[in-house]
Amino acid sequence: MLTLGNRRIFNNDSFRGDQLRICQTVLDDKEVFVVQHTGFGKSLTYQLPAVVSRGVTVVISPLVSLMHDQVQALKAKNISALQYTSDMSDADRFCAIDVIRRSRIQLLYVAPEALMGEGHLQKALAELWHNSLLRRFVVDEAHCCSEFGHDFRPAYSRLGELKDTFPGVLFTAITGTATERTKTDIKKILRMKNPVEFFGTSRRANLILNVEEKFWGEETVNEIVVDSCWKQILAFVLDQPTTSTGIIYCMTKKDTEKLANWLSQQKQGGDSIKAAHYHGELNTAQRSQVYNAWMRGETRIVVATTAFGMGVDKGDVRWIVHHSMPQSMEAYVQEVGRAGRDGAIAKCLMLFSAKTVQVIRKNFQKDLVTKEARRRKLVEIEQFSQNVKQICRHRLLMEHFAEEGDTKLCNSMCDACCESRSSAPQKSTRPRRASAGIAGKRAASSPPRADARRRRKSAPA
Ligand SMILES: [Zn+2]
Repeated sequence: MLTLGNRRIFNNDSFRGDQLRICQTVLDDKEVFVVQHTGFGKSLTYQLPAVVSRGVTVVISPLVSLMHDQVQALKAKNISALQYTSDMSDADRFCAIDVIRRSRIQLLYVAPEALMGEGHLQKALAELWHNSLLRRFVVDEAHCCSEFGHDFRPAYSRLGELKDTFPGVLFTAITGTATERTKTDIKKILRMKNPVEFFGTSRRANLILNVEEKFWGEETVNEIVVDSCWKQILAFVLDQPTTSTGIIYCMTKKDTEKLANWLSQQKQGGDSIKAAHYHGELNTAQRSQVYNAWMRGETRIVVATTAFGMGVDKGDVRWIVHHSMPQSMEAYVQEVGRAGRDGAIAKCLMLFSAKTVQVIRKNFQKDLVTKEARRRKLVEIEQFSQNVKQICRHRLLMEHFAEEGDTKLCNSMCDACCESRSSAPQKSTRPRRASAGIAGKRAASSPPRADARRRRKSAPA
């Protein structure tokens, strides 16, 4: 039934990794906890069981745009799905409640705030529950439950209460990254006693990980004031093939606008670089326009805040640049994880600076609930960036997520390993880097064996 459904409804020739085992476990009516990297195909593990069985599966998701994309994709496959979100009109919500009550859908996407706060919605779900048609709650991006996670959302931390309201309804918790502490916390919050766990590796063998010290200062070029780090980023972009697609992550909306605008005025191979900015203050139409142009390859580079992230589904992103460092190891893994989902080599450059650390620290001082957890996470990413002992970055990431790290696996896919293998001293006119290695040039022409294996196994999501 699952194999047939996967082929006929979802158009997949085969399952990836643990997908089939997870689907079977869901159908066996057990609670499931999935931690798998971006690109694993986590949505299939709840969508397929929902489609081949009776009742409604409620998916709790943090972002309206993400829900919208998922529902559209399901509808295109003739699957009855619905979203219930705060941006809907009263009339639309009224209609949605009616549809839910009549159990005409298989998948319902809802934000945690709407689910925990809306009496009408809970009433409709109660009707389903009484008729044994409320099948399961899927908590997507489950790390948002935990204060130790990197995107804490208070409404997420109340989701365990659903077990009082709807006794017997099972949970699936899904996330891309979680440390041991976050995993334990998620289980406690969602009151999962003995979930069947499917924990994949955080290791992405096809990603080249580099960190450089960020250039500071301004200079005037052709009467335009240019941040020094823009030139640093441009040098990286010019080093990539003219057709390659990438994402540049900035901390502020203003930075995304200024950098995208300046990059658009630069040339590569005689043509202007096609870059666009993306952040949370763009309206829905503007966001869709930027996203779609980038998906079609008309825009090469999206310069974005972290608003551009969850749900981004493009296989051939060849590089990621962090103009500003991420605020945690988890955020770093998720953001670089958007590169190279097709299994081919992709490059990741993070610009690190102690000044940015100070700015981030100042920003969360007032947030009494999460201040301490965020401070600790910032220290972790700071130590990873500085990497004073020059330890393999892939190994550092695996150790952070409590996996055994083996430097031999890296195959010079990080700056630390390149540096330690290089006998000649680095010749560079640039200021001192956080790490002076230059992983990438060699690796780009000879993919590692692990990467070749991944390519055979998996298709783009
Ligand atoms: Zn390494």
